[in-house]
Amino acid sequence: MQKVRVRTEQTSQIPNSKSQIRSALVLFGSPGSGKGTQSKLLAKALSIPQISTGDMLREHVRQGSVMGSAVEAKLKAGILVKDEVVNRLVEKRISQPDCARGFILDGYPRTRAQAEALCGMLAANYTSELVIHLVVDYNVIIARLTGRRQCPVCGTLYNVASKPPKVPGVCDLEGAQLIVREDDREEVIRHRLEAYEQQTRPLLDYFREEGKRLYEVDASYDPPEAVFRKVLALIQKQ
Ligand code: AMP
Repeated sequence: MQKVRVRTEQTSQIPNSKSQIRSALVLFGSPGSGKGTQSKLLAKALSIPQISTGDMLREHVRQGSVMGSAVEAKLKAGILVKDEVVNRLVEKRISQPDCARGFILDGYPRTRAQAEALCGMLAANYTSELVIHLVVDYNVIIARLTGRRQCPVCGTLYNVASKPPKVPGVCDLEGAQLIVREDDREEVIRHRLEAYEQQTRPLLDYFREEGKRLYEVDASYDPPEAVFRKVLALIQKQ
């Protein structure tokens, strides 16, 4: 298992016992920057869980829970869900035993109120933080998001430009006709990118002001495995 080390000069909140050190990795970036892909690869390599608020919310919608019904319309429209809702989800999730050695946040925090809530949760639990910003060209983001297709049967994701199926429009595994996911429709993509620019990107300044360790990784053109190697090297240098 890879060990995520913490720098000693930033350990004012870190207790003496190493067993209590937990590292929170925040994968930060625009929709379509590859946060999901990278955090899954990291979770596997570091043996710590990936926590995707988007996945958790979609699961609530799929199960038809009270929360799921309350947030469904927002997810479909690409609008951010209320801070209190996601903060509660994350707080509960990171208190689970499998997060004891650390976790990777994917898609959280997305607003100033969420970032402040996260800082509070981490300080209380003696966790060190590392923010990795996946920087991707705007045109590449648009191509990735508009080109995304999904198999309605097995869920496999394709991209008409970067990861096309063998037969255009048809799933390699199931032979089913590929679909455009509801929140990948052009109108919804516009809302998701607006939400990122207005509410999420400004968090980079917040992280800097708060003295968080923030690193940028260029993730525009390299294949996911090459981006992953850069991200992992960065983490291991800490
Ligand atoms: P994602 O899969 O991370 O792009 O998230 C899909 C959708 O879930 C977003 O467009 C939002 O509607 C909602 N969502 C996910 N994470 C958050 C968050 N941290 N704060 C508010 N809404 C979120």
